[in-house]
Amino acid sequence: MGSVIWKIAVIGSGPAGFYSAGELFRQESWSIKVDMFDRLPTPYGLVRGGVAPDHQKIKSVTKIYSRIAENENFRFFGNVEFGSDIHRSDLLELYDGVIYAVGSPSDRSLGIPGEELPGSHSATEFVAWYNGHPDFREIKFNLAVKDVFVIGMGNVALDVARILAKDPKELSKTDISTYALETLFESQIEDIWLVGRRGPLQAAFTPIEAREFLDLESADVILEGGPFKLDSESHKILETEATKDTKKNIEILKQISEKNSSNKIKRVHFLFLASPLEILGNECVEKIRMVRNELIKQSDGSLRPQATNDLIEENAGLIFRSIGYHGNPLAGVPFDHNSGIIPNECGQIIDEDQDKSLRSREYVAGWIKRGPTGVIGTNKQDAVETVHRMLEIFLQEEIEPVNQTGSSSIESLLKERNVEYVTFTDWKKLDEYEKESGLSQERPRVKVTSILKMLEIIRNKKI
Ligand code: NAP
Repeated sequence: MGSVIWKIAVIGSGPAGFYSAGELFRQESWSIKVDMFDRLPTPYGLVRGGVAPDHQKIKSVTKIYSRIAENENFRFFGNVEFGSDIHRSDLLELYDGVIYAVGSPSDRSLGIPGEELPGSHSATEFVAWYNGHPDFREIKFNLAVKDVFVIGMGNVALDVARILAKDPKELSKTDISTYALETLFESQIEDIWLVGRRGPLQAAFTPIEAREFLDLESADVILEGGPFKLDSESHKILETEATKDTKKNIEILKQISEKNSSNKIKRVHFLFLASPLEILGNECVEKIRMVRNELIKQSDGSLRPQATNDLIEENAGLIFRSIGYHGNPLAGVPFDHNSGIIPNECGQIIDEDQDKSLRSREYVAGWIKRGPTGVIGTNKQDAVETVHRMLEIFLQEEIEPVNQTGSSSIESLLKERNVEYVTFTDWKKLDEYEKESGLSQERPRVKVTSILKMLEIIRNKKI
């Protein structure tokens, strides 16, 4: 590639963004500079704002990201929002390639009556709230209720149920946001219901997360519906094609069903084969009406839920829908509203209306590319595919690098627009500050949750 330096913009500093940067730097025959943008002053996306505070080990993956950020060809521009501070047209002018790795920040709704009542929330909001995401810190969750329903049987639903089921003392040595910890100490929650529309075999959670429910200190765990049983089709699948993880899930659920109550303060109920129909209440959530389902085999062999006539009505003070994240469109970038992703082929954005030369320069990675599935590590393979596709296309289509002269720069553009951007060195200052604040409380860090305060700390102003 001679002395050509390729400039790539990565939008989003979560796992997909960092794995993309890491893979770009691994290319020995290319000289590549990466500028990474995030709308928050803090990097790491869902590792900071999504991973549960009692899963600190998972968060240690940020050490890998921080090493990538130390590469001399890496720059971080935090507190810079795509669509308002910088636009697609700016990026295409200043960079040879753009990788959108913005994740799926919204959630899907159930589409049932009463969903908008106070006390009915998305799990994504609650997760972001207890993790101290600046956009969610002002939300009030009323935990002074007895019954909570979490709709969905994925790992996010399990995170929410576990955080509510634990004694807040157990969380007090984590990096949970201080306001969330205080609210949890006031919680009056006694019963937490996890509701899955399909059966135990179809549960979306993974065994490591399910196993944690076997030894919760402050909550008994109950499998609703008596002794463990599977419908005949599910049983056949278990015996033939079930994955190792599914088999492990079944073992764990069996163990849960055999557990005796030990009269703990709280209870977590696993309720399978039920779907919410309506959320009832005058001023706020009071009850949930559900229907029992049966599983019907589809022509493709999958088992889908079908409502029976059997209705269930339960008191509910708080309801979290946890039925999956959903992507948001980015200004000027194609978007599939149904699936919530940017249409792409192996990471290359597909836009039939677009000029071919531009189509060769825009890519996606992570959840906005494939949808909200997989664990953090899944994003590595995903980013590798995107980066390789990008470089292949650059070669195939003999893409000419833009802006080699460096006459216009992103820094001057952001300064012109009065954007107070945060560099990686700035972030390290904030990181140190948070860690130091945690020392006296034996916590890994005390998160700063207001953007203004973050910027003040970075500027070293009086706090
Ligand atoms: P998920 O794994 O896709 O689970 C979504 C759940 O919602 C499923 O049980 C699904 O049931 C149910 N659902 C969907 N539409 C529904 C509807 N209309 N009514 C009732 N239920 C409905 O999503 P997630 O829990 O948000 O997790 C997202 C990703 O992050 C997953 O890959 C997850 O593993 C990962 N994650 C990992 C961890 C960890 O490793 N510790 C923690 C959190 C999240 P059906 O199966 O019937 O569709």
